[in-house]
Amino acid sequence: MEDNTGYSILRNPRLNKGSAFTLEEREKYGLQGLLPEAVETIETQIVRIHEQLDNFSKPINQYVYLMQLLENNETLFFKTISNDPVKFLPLVYTPTVGEACQKFGQVSRRPRGLYLSIKDKDNLKKILKNWPEKDVRFTVVTDGGRILGLGDLGIFGLGIPIGKLVLYTSCGGVPPEYTLPIVLDVGTNNEEFLNDPLYPGLKCKRIRGKEFDDFVAAFVAAINEVFPKICIQWEDFPGVDAIKILNNYREKVCTFNDDIQGTAAIAIAGFISISRSMKKRFIDQRFLFLGAGAAAFGIADMLVKKFQRDGLTEDEALGQIWMFDVNGLLVNSRTDLAEHQLQFAHDLEPCTDFAEAILKIKPTAIVGVSTVGGAFNQQVIENMSAINERPIIFPYSNPTSHSECTAEQAYNWSKGKAVFASGSPFAPVEYEGKTFTPGQGNNVFIFPALGLAIFATEAKRVTDDILLTAAEAVAKQVCLTDFEKGLIYPNVADILRVSENVAVKVAEEIFNSGLASVERPESICDFIKSKMYVPEYK
Ligand code: NAD
Repeated sequence: MEDNTGYSILRNPRLNKGSAFTLEEREKYGLQGLLPEAVETIETQIVRIHEQLDNFSKPINQYVYLMQLLENNETLFFKTISNDPVKFLPLVYTPTVGEACQKFGQVSRRPRGLYLSIKDKDNLKKILKNWPEKDVRFTVVTDGGRILGLGDLGIFGLGIPIGKLVLYTSCGGVPPEYTLPIVLDVGTNNEEFLNDPLYPGLKCKRIRGKEFDDFVAAFVAAINEVFPKICIQWEDFPGVDAIKILNNYREKVCTFNDDIQGTAAIAIAGFISISRSMKKRFIDQRFLFLGAGAAAFGIADMLVKKFQRDGLTEDEALGQIWMFDVNGLLVNSRTDLAEHQLQFAHDLEPCTDFAEAILKIKPTAIVGVSTVGGAFNQQVIENMSAINERPIIFPYSNPTSHSECTAEQAYNWSKGKAVFASGSPFAPVEYEGKTFTPGQGNNVFIFPALGLAIFATEAKRVTDDILLTAAEAVAKQVCLTDFEKGLIYPNVADILRVSENVAVKVAEEIFNSGLASVERPESICDFIKSKMYVPEYK
C-alpha cells in the first residue's frame, strides 16, 4: 500500500525534509498547512538542532533527542553528525550508547532494526524479508551477551548495532539504506531482566551449545540468501563465542568482528605510527602483553602478520611477542597453557613478577589487556623507562577503572618519556610545563572505512591482509605536526576525510587480492568518492 501523500512523506525519515521543502514541493505533494510558512536551508535547521539539544543537560536525553531526529529526518540527522563528529560521536555512540542500552526499554521510541528470536530459527528468511529494503549490504549483529563493559543486556543490546551503523554512515559514508541493525535473541542471564515484566525479549536463560551454534548457522545462511551481498559484522558477543563464530565463518562468507579485528587493527595502526615518529623500523619493536585472553590474541595474531609483511619469518615474528597472564610469563615449561597460547610461549625460566619480566625481555612496548586496573604500577613504568628512550605504554583494558594505568601516571612515572595510548579516553596531561595528549585506540578510524571499501567493491571476504592495510592506511594519515603534539592517531574531527583515504587503500587491496565482485575502476579514488553517501536533500 503505497501512500505518497504529503502527510506520509513528512513521516518517512528518508524522504522528509521538514521546513526545507520548497514551495514547489509543498504544492506538488500537498504539504501546505502541514508546515509553517518559512522555507529553511539545512544549515538553518542544524542551528535549531543545536539549540534544542542544549535544552538537555544529560547526554542520555541528548541521545534520545538525536535518535528521534534519525527517525524523523535521516538527512538532517547525518548532516548534523558529520558536521561535528567530535561533539556528536560521544552522544550517538560510546560512552552514551552504553547507558542507552541499559535503559533501552525506557528510552527507545521506534528503534530501527530486526529482532531475530532463536524460536524462529526455521523461519528466518521470511522474517528477514519483512525488512523494507531489498538490497542490504551491511549488518551489525549482536546477541547482547557482553555489551561494552556492561555485561548481558539481552535484546536491549540492539542499541549497539544501531549506534555502530550510524557511524558507518556518518564517519565512513556508507549509505544508510544499505545498513541493517540486528539482535539475535537467545535469552538473557540478566536476572533483573528475567524478573522484569516489562522486559520484552525471550524470558529464559541464554540458550547455549549446539542449539545456539545451529541458530547462528541458520542466521548466516538465511541472511546470505536474502541479501547475497551482505557483510556481517559481529558485535559484543561474549569472548569465546566471538572467536568461535569468527573462525567458523571468516573463510566462508564476508564477515569480521570489530571487537577482535578492529581493535587489533587500530592498536597496530598506533604502533606503526609510533615507529614512524621514532624513525624506527616496525620489526625492531618488541611487545610484552599483560593478559593473554581474547583481546591479546586478536592483537598478537595481527602483529605476527604485520611482522611477516615487513619481512620476518613466522618464527622470528613470534619471537618478538611475549605474554604474561594471571599465572605469570608464558614459558614453555608451563603446563597450564591452552592450545592457542602455546605459540606465544618461549624458552625462559618462569617469572611471576611483571616488572621483573620487563627487565628480562626488554620490550619496547607493553600492552595491557588484563582487565586489572592499576597493574602498570610505578615500578613497571620505571623499568620500561630504564630500558627505552621512549617506552610505549598501551593500557587497553576498558572501562577507565580497568585501565592498567592512567595517562597521568604514565607521563609522571616515565618523566615525560612515555608514548601513551589507551582503550578508554584520558584528558591531556601537563608535565613540567609541557602538555601531552594521550592517544585513544578508537576503532572508528577502522570499521567505517573498511565498511565503505567493502560496500563499494562488494568484497567476498574480509581477510587479515585487508585489516592490516586499513591499519597501515590509518597510520599514514598522521602527519609530522601531529607527532610533535604527541598524537599517534588522526584527529576525529577529520574522520570523513581519513575514512575516505583509508577506504581507497583498502579497496585497492580488495581488488589486488581478487576479492572484489565489481570490475576494477580506472581511478579507485574517484570510485570510492562516487559511492559515498552525502547527506543532502534531493
Ligand atoms: P579475557 O578475560 O579473555 O582475558 C584476560 C586475561 O588477563 C587473561 O589471560 C588473564 O589470565 C589475564 N589476567 C587476569 N588477571 C591478571 C593479573 N592480575 N595479572 C596478569 N594477567 C591477568 O579478556 P579480554 O576479552 O582479552 O579483554 C581484556 C581487556 O581488554 C578488557 O578490559 C577489555 O575491555 C579490553 N579489550 C578487549 C577487547 C576484546 O576484543 N575482547 C577489545 C578491546 C579491549
